[in-house]
Amino acid sequence: MSTKVYISGRLCPREEAKISVFDHGLLYGDGVFEGLRSYGGRVFRLEEHLRRLWDSARAISLEIPISIHDMASAVQQTLEANHIQDGYVRLIITRGAGPLGLDPNETADPQVIIIADHIQLYPREFYEKGLEIITASTIRNHPAALSPSIKSLNYLNNILAKLEGLQAGCVEALMLNFKGEVAECTGDNIFLVRGGELFTPPLDAGLLDGITRRAVIDLAREAGMVVHETTLAKDDVYAADECFLTGSAAEVVPVIKVDQCVIGDGRPGPLTRQLTSAFRELTRKP
Ligand code: PMP
Repeated sequence: MSTKVYISGRLCPREEAKISVFDHGLLYGDGVFEGLRSYGGRVFRLEEHLRRLWDSARAISLEIPISIHDMASAVQQTLEANHIQDGYVRLIITRGAGPLGLDPNETADPQVIIIADHIQLYPREFYEKGLEIITASTIRNHPAALSPSIKSLNYLNNILAKLEGLQAGCVEALMLNFKGEVAECTGDNIFLVRGGELFTPPLDAGLLDGITRRAVIDLAREAGMVVHETTLAKDDVYAADECFLTGSAAEVVPVIKVDQCVIGDGRPGPLTRQLTSAFRELTRKP
């Protein structure tokens, strides 16, 4: 059965899901997107993802041509048309087609695209044994240049850091901000554990306000853990007892080595394991 993609208000076979080569989403990365997860046919934190999508669009003065309510139904419709219970949904809004200039006011017909797919980002082994990552030399975008809180179609900043990671044999890479502080990874937020407490960089360090990050902070607090959203240096990562990453696709994944430094005893730590299962329980709850 062919995959069905939602585009311009209708579901069509993937081969027919096409956009104009003049779309500024393609020409300039002018657009926004979201990555969501569905568990048992229900999208996890759909409202939060849609709010973030609308916020990203507003930040680049892009008007999404359908209502939040219609978007929510379209997501559900796309999942159902593809018979996906547990999967990944990519929501994309492009600026629309226009002449070969930058001016967004010259464009028309922004495209709303929804792709639902089966996806497993990391192999099981990474969850059991933990990831090794490196610190990229590519710094995270300066918030005054392109705010990392905007989930735009321009992901080159992250891709350059990801390439550095891959070059070093790592699937993720840590990114520092322009001040040299820890920001986030290329597609995941980062947490540390030290002395039984949790630490994660604050939003003003220049990072995506991750929905998994928020959920994990809530779960940790509910479990009685102390969570600090505070400025972190690379040395704090090296000295951590535990480290883990969060993201819609990755969920919660342990990190056991950063650059040359082994984290803790080189195995996923107890708080990481506790939060990994708490998150699994939360997402798979009926
Ligand atoms: N940071 C970046 C740069 C991301 O692209 C993502 C999403 N893949 C995240 C963090 C995690 O955000 P979320 O938990 O909302 O998926």
